[in-house]
Amino acid sequence: MPPTFAQLGVPESICRALERSGIHKPFEIQSAVIADAMEGRDICGRAPTGSGKTLAFGIPLIANVGQARPRRPRALILSPTRELAEQIASELRSISGPVTVAAVYGGVGYTNQRKQLQRGVDILVACPGRLEDLIDQQSVSLHEADQVVIDEADRMADMGFLPAVRRILDQTAAQRQTVMFSATLDDDVAKLTRHYQDRPITHEVGDATPDILSADHRFWTVEKSERVAACVDVIAAAGSAIVFCRTRHGSDRLARQLSQRGVNAAAIHGGHAQNRRTRTLKEFTDGRVEALVATDVAARGIHVDSVACVIHFDPPEDHKAYLHRSGRTARAGQTGLVVSLVQTGQHADAQKIQRQLGLNQPITSPDSIDGNTAPPRRRRPSQPPAADRADRKPNGSHQARHDRPDRQTNNRGGKKSNRKPQGRNQHRSRRKPRSGASSR
Ligand code: ADP
Ligand code: MG
Repeated sequence: MPPTFAQLGVPESICRALERSGIHKPFEIQSAVIADAMEGRDICGRAPTGSGKTLAFGIPLIANVGQARPRRPRALILSPTRELAEQIASELRSISGPVTVAAVYGGVGYTNQRKQLQRGVDILVACPGRLEDLIDQQSVSLHEADQVVIDEADRMADMGFLPAVRRILDQTAAQRQTVMFSATLDDDVAKLTRHYQDRPITHEVGDATPDILSADHRFWTVEKSERVAACVDVIAAAGSAIVFCRTRHGSDRLARQLSQRGVNAAAIHGGHAQNRRTRTLKEFTDGRVEALVATDVAARGIHVDSVACVIHFDPPEDHKAYLHRSGRTARAGQTGLVVSLVQTGQHADAQKIQRQLGLNQPITSPDSIDGNTAPPRRRRPSQPPAADRADRKPNGSHQARHDRPDRQTNNRGGKKSNRKPQGRNQHRSRRKPRSGASSR
């Protein structure tokens, strides 16, 4: 029997908030991580997308975080993208009670972010670029942040944020808890672990290659001029899709072409203002937009429930990009369809990607998508119904690996195994929310 949240040491008030959100039993990565994180241990976690990592690191933060003074957050969560930062903040706010949570990221004005920081933010969710700007402007200091989470560390590395992440970590409290999550634990992530974590416990769930095989992968030969029509057919059969393009311009053009053919399509990319991107994403999760046409960068870290289908309209850069893109469907153990549109001259590249991922699919002319393989059209509210959420189970088996202390270097020199973060169980007894601060 898996433990309950309460058995993992989660304070009752948080358990109740989880219940209200329709979350009754911990997912596997949550069972693995929460108890250790509640004790203040450093953790390095790997689990596939959709396996519930946000609450795995978020619940212990909410339970343990100290109360922040103005401009001095006590906990920091680093996120590679704005969308992910917003998603993390809103998921945590739904269970945070009196603990204040705010997100800061680029593409929007500074004024509100500065005001929030000035009021005091216990848990700050931040993208590296904007956070460094705010630090430079002395709108925030990280010296009192003694709980730090790096989410999607592999994407952080892919997007070139590691130097910024290092500079940021160097400014957080020397005695701190550092928790890192990633879909892969490769070299870059291992380096971060060596330099910034103290005898971390590694928890790994699922296969090292994210649940790629639970989706139905098709590779179709489609020449350039036929790609839009092929896309329209796939979206009509699958119901909703994220369609990947190489460039911003290409995404805008494809969204237009799809709209002209009667598909509700919208582009999402870094050239759009943040409020537009947020709106587009919401329209997609609400089902008002059926096709989200995205560049790789815009799509990183977006969590959308039940995308029926991913279409590689332009080929991915490499097998890692194929995985990241395809991981938008078949999340949390659901099935999904992944269609690659491959032009004649691109077959060799597609086959190379297949080889690297252990996929073995013939490249065929477009075939029909029958109801068995493509999930039914789903139009879901952005917040899935409670019963549905509780039923979802990510797949994979869990192993914990306690890293041998003698192999770990610790740049902070301090020993902190007995350190318990302050404020444990404050959740129940803590201060009343400052006016309006905790519920937004
Ligand atoms: P990851 O970060 O691993 O990709 P998320 O943390 O975004 O995954 O979680 C995926 C989805 O699963 C979210 O919609 C989240 O609310 C939901 N979820 C998380 N934990 C549970 C749980 N224990 N029971 C039911 N749903 C959950
Ligand atoms: Mg996540």
